[in-house]
Amino acid sequence: MRRHGFLIDMDGVIYRGKQLIPGADQFITCLLDRGVPFAFLTNNSQRTRRDVATKLARMGIPVDESHIFTCAMATARFLAAQKPRGTAFVIGEGGLLQALHTNGYAIVDDEPDYVVVGEGRTFNMEIVEHAVRLILRGSKLVATNIDPNCPTSQGLRPGCGAIVAMLEAATGLTAFSVGKPSPVMMRAARKELGLATDETIMIGDTMETDILGGVQMGYRTVLVLSGGTQHDDLARYAYRPDLVLDSIADLADEATYAAVIGETLPLVAHESLGAAL
Ligand SMILES: [Mg+2]
Repeated sequence: MRRHGFLIDMDGVIYRGKQLIPGADQFITCLLDRGVPFAFLTNNSQRTRRDVATKLARMGIPVDESHIFTCAMATARFLAAQKPRGTAFVIGEGGLLQALHTNGYAIVDDEPDYVVVGEGRTFNMEIVEHAVRLILRGSKLVATNIDPNCPTSQGLRPGCGAIVAMLEAATGLTAFSVGKPSPVMMRAARKELGLATDETIMIGDTMETDILGGVQMGYRTVLVLSGGTQHDDLARYAYRPDLVLDSIADLADEATYAAVIGETLPLVAHESLGAAL
């Protein structure tokens, strides 16, 4: 079989809220049985990779920390490469704080190298005011991602991008974002799996992050319609996925799987298959 591996979004692909998407567990078990490399790629920086692995395990998906790649990890590794042993003022939660500490960063309140913004519910106006002043005094504004909102079982809630937008409006400066679709995170996750560009397949439900990120990197892309995107939405975008499936569970079909990994159809021929599905 052609060498290949997967980068897989979670929300809207594996589960919605606390509900497992039917068949997602079988697909992951199948990848584990076959020894196919894969990682879950999430733009949620709130949880550590161990927290995420535990959540998945409780849903019946038997993965460990090594299968999780979060935008918090990507951000912390990126900053550690840019400025080793730097300092950060953080608007965010455990996943981001832990990733920064692991990568040699100290969390400080004054004169940080970076103001780093991630997902979370703990911020207030006092923290925002302090962050604005730090940025205006020269600390650089970094976002784990700029997703404007996140789906929950009760509906949408403001995402990291909404908090970042407030800081950008107040300071007149633009944040640097590391999470999907940034090539920083997309490339780091591929390298972690030891895959080449043309061996990498991105599966996601969001055009602006999962699919755009994959398209920009030259990965194969699979859009699943089990999350926030409908088939009719595709006409609005200048880029398109290589394949559209109703659900990740459709990859249990051997012919579909072979097409996705590029064994039976060249990339250009996927259009007809995509349109048929
Ligand atoms: Mg998603």
